[in-house]
Amino acid sequence: MNSPYGNYIGGNWRSPTEARPNINPSNLTDTVGEFAQGSTADVDEAVAAAQVAFPAWSRAIPYTRSQILAKAAAELASRAQELGIMLAREEGKTLAEAVGEVNRAAQIFDFFAGEAIRISGETIASLRPDVTVEITREPIGIVGIITPWNFPMGIPAWKIAAALAYGNCVVFKPADLVPASGHALTDILIRAGIPAGVLNLVMGRGRVIGQRIIEHRDIHAISFTGSSSTGRMIAAGAVGGETMKKIQLEMGGKSPLVVLDDADIENAVECALDGAFLGTGQRCTASSRLVVTDGIHDRFVAALKDRLAGIVVDDALKPGTHIGPVVDQGQFEQDLSYIESARSDGARLVSGGEALKRDHDGYYLSPALFVDASPDMRFCREEIFGPVAGVIRVKDYDEALAIANDTAFGLSSGICTTSLKYANDFKRNSDAGMVKVNLSTSGVDFHVPFGGRKASSYGPREQGRYALEFFTQVKTSYQLPL
Ligand code: NAD
Repeated sequence: MNSPYGNYIGGNWRSPTEARPNINPSNLTDTVGEFAQGSTADVDEAVAAAQVAFPAWSRAIPYTRSQILAKAAAELASRAQELGIMLAREEGKTLAEAVGEVNRAAQIFDFFAGEAIRISGETIASLRPDVTVEITREPIGIVGIITPWNFPMGIPAWKIAAALAYGNCVVFKPADLVPASGHALTDILIRAGIPAGVLNLVMGRGRVIGQRIIEHRDIHAISFTGSSSTGRMIAAGAVGGETMKKIQLEMGGKSPLVVLDDADIENAVECALDGAFLGTGQRCTASSRLVVTDGIHDRFVAALKDRLAGIVVDDALKPGTHIGPVVDQGQFEQDLSYIESARSDGARLVSGGEALKRDHDGYYLSPALFVDASPDMRFCREEIFGPVAGVIRVKDYDEALAIANDTAFGLSSGICTTSLKYANDFKRNSDAGMVKVNLSTSGVDFHVPFGGRKASSYGPREQGRYALEFFTQVKTSYQLPL
C-alpha cells in the first residue's frame, strides 16, 4: 500500500479525497506518509457495514475469533522491529520504547485470543420452585473506539482486541497525529482474517470523526482514551444525548511519587527518572509531582540532577537516545508555557527546561526539574504531558499523603520507602486507581485491570479479564423445565 493511505470501511480500503501528512517530530523534513482525513459520511458507512457484519460475528464460535486474534498477535511479534521504527518515527518515542509497545500489543492480542474462548456464565437457583436462572454475557454491539497519540499501537490494541474477542464490531478512530500505527494494525487484522465490516478504520479529526461517533444512534458503546476535557465532552454527548451509550473513559493524570526519608535513594531516583521523564513525560501515569520528605530532599534532588546530566535527548531512532522529542509544535509550546508558569510562580529550575538543537529540526526539550514547588502552583495541579516535574518538600509521611491525594486526578501514585507500615498505609489510603511501591508510577502489566479514579477515569476498567465488564452486557434468563 502506498501513501496517501485511506480508510478501511466494509472490507475495502478507500482512496482518500483529503489527506494530511504525518510528520516525524525527530526530523521535521521526514514524512511518514499522508493519511486520510475522513468525513462524517465515512463514519455512517462504517456503522452500516458493522451492522451487516454483527449478526455473524457475534455468533461466530469463540474459537474462530480466538484464532484471528492469535494470528494478529503472531504478525505483530514477528514485525516488532519494523513496526517499532514506524511508531518511533510518527510519535517520537525511542526505538526501544516503540518496539516494546509493539510487542506489548502482540501480548494483548494473545491474551484476548485466550479470553475469547474462556467466556462463561453462571447458573443460580431461583427463589421459585423448578425455575433455573442463567446469567450469560453477550456482546454490546457496535463499539466506537477513540484513541490518543501517546500509545498509537498499545492503546488501540487493548481496546480492539477486547472488543473483538467478545464478539463486538468496531469503528476505530486513531488520533490524527499518529494514524500510521492504527493503519498498520488494521492491515494486520485483515490478513489475520477479520471479516468485512467487523473492524472499520476511520482516520481524521476528532471534532469531525469523533463527534460523529459520539452522536451516531447505531453505535452502542464508546471506549475512549484521551484528555479529561475531551472525555467530559464525550460523556455529555454520548450519555446525555438520545442514544444513551455505554461509555468507558480513560483520561488524564497528575500522579505523585512520594519519597520518604527511609527510601533506597538509588531506586527512588530511578523511579522518578522513569516516571517523570521517560517517554518524554508523555504518559498519563507520569509522576510530574515528586513529593519528598525533608530528611532526604537535598540528597534526592542532587542525585536526580546528576542522573539527568547523563540523559541523552535526541532523535528517537538514534542508538543511545534516552528521551525522544515532544510529539508536535502544540505540545512543545504547551510544555514551554508550563515551564514559564512554574518559574513565575516561584519554583526554581535546577535542571533542563531548554529547547535543544539536534542534527535535524525537531521538538527537542531537555527534561525540566524544578524544586521549591508547592502544591498550589499551576504546574503542580494541571496535567502537563511533557518532561517537566516539580519537587514538593514535605515534613513527614502524613503531609506527603495529604498532598499526594490533593488533586483532581487519580490514575496512579507511587511511594519509595523501606517501611512496611508506610507502604501498606499508602496502598490503602492513596486515592488512585493504581498504587506502586518502590516502582515507577508508569508501566503496567497487560493481564491486570488498568484505570483510575476522579477525573482520570469513568466506567469499567480496561485490560485483563476485567475488560469483560465493558465489552459485554449481562443477560439473565429464567426457565421452567421443558
Ligand atoms: P485528546 O483528548 O486531544 O484526543 C484523544 C482522541 O479524541 C483523539 O483521537 C482525538 O482526535 C479525539 N477527539 C478530540 N476531540 C474530540 C471531540 N470533540 N469528539 C470526539 N473525539 C475527539 O487527547 P490526546 O492529546 O490525543 O492524548 C493525550 C491525553 O490522553 C492526555 O490527557 C493523557 O493523560 C491521556 N491518556 C490517558 C490514558 C489513560 O489510560 N488514562 C492513556 C494515554 C493517554
